[in-house]
Amino acid sequence: MMIETGLSPTALSASGLVFGMLVGSFLNVVILRLPQQLNNQWQQDSRDFLGLEPVSAESISLAKPSSRCSDCHTAIRPQHNIPLLSFLFLRGRCNSCAKPISIQYPLIELTAGLIAAFFVYQHGLSEVTFYSLVLSYSLLVLTGIDFHEQLLPDQITLPLLWVGLLANLNANFVPLREAVLGAIAGYLSLWIVFWAFKMITGKEGMGYGDFKLLGALGAWLGWQMLPLVIFLSTTLGATVGIAGIIFAGRNRETAIAFGPFLAIAGWIAFVWGDKILVSYLGIFNL
Ligand SMILES: [Zn+2]
Repeated sequence: MMIETGLSPTALSASGLVFGMLVGSFLNVVILRLPQQLNNQWQQDSRDFLGLEPVSAESISLAKPSSRCSDCHTAIRPQHNIPLLSFLFLRGRCNSCAKPISIQYPLIELTAGLIAAFFVYQHGLSEVTFYSLVLSYSLLVLTGIDFHEQLLPDQITLPLLWVGLLANLNANFVPLREAVLGAIAGYLSLWIVFWAFKMITGKEGMGYGDFKLLGALGAWLGWQMLPLVIFLSTTLGATVGIAGIIFAGRNRETAIAFGPFLAIAGWIAFVWGDKILVSYLGIFNL
């Protein structure tokens, strides 16, 4: 299923870029607010469970309050809220208090824009593009949240698994059988590593969110891609970890979230996995 627009691939991906940057602006809000919402919810639930009086926390949702400066809390005017351009125009500083705005905002917007341009260029306005964007943006949000909070919310990882199975109902990416086996194998493989590591060292090396994320990736990519995802994510994680010890003077015990590496590795395998496997297997003449 593909919608014909009559636009050239270049014009189409330019529109994709703009669309993606607008979505990116929303993804920034999700990355910032979803963890706050969850924290408020957990606090309320805990107080409720302990029979304590509820505290009246400022209610936040993805829509309210409107975007504010994280330093001076001045509401951001619409003309200063244009993806990427406002950041460049304001030279990365708040218009009211001149404190630097996090580079994360334009970075997420630009990444989201490039992702949309890329898939629209490759697959046009199609079901494959739609699902590819759902997966890519979910991984982008998970990367952002896990990076800051060391948390992969169930609210994203679980639906991501089901949508992956749904996407492969028509074998958009892999046959459904491979997707189902991928979801199970993805969860179980890290679950086994977790318990083996815990029994040997007495420490917990990763969280349950990581298992759910790999389960979700298995549903999208099929079980055959899982070894590649694990290989890429651990290589990436080890490289960043060692660089952190050497250059940033981090301690070996400093915990770094594994989710971002899984998400990035999953995305690379989603887009280039087949090519990587073919050239890798080609080397060994299999
Ligand atoms: Zn400010």
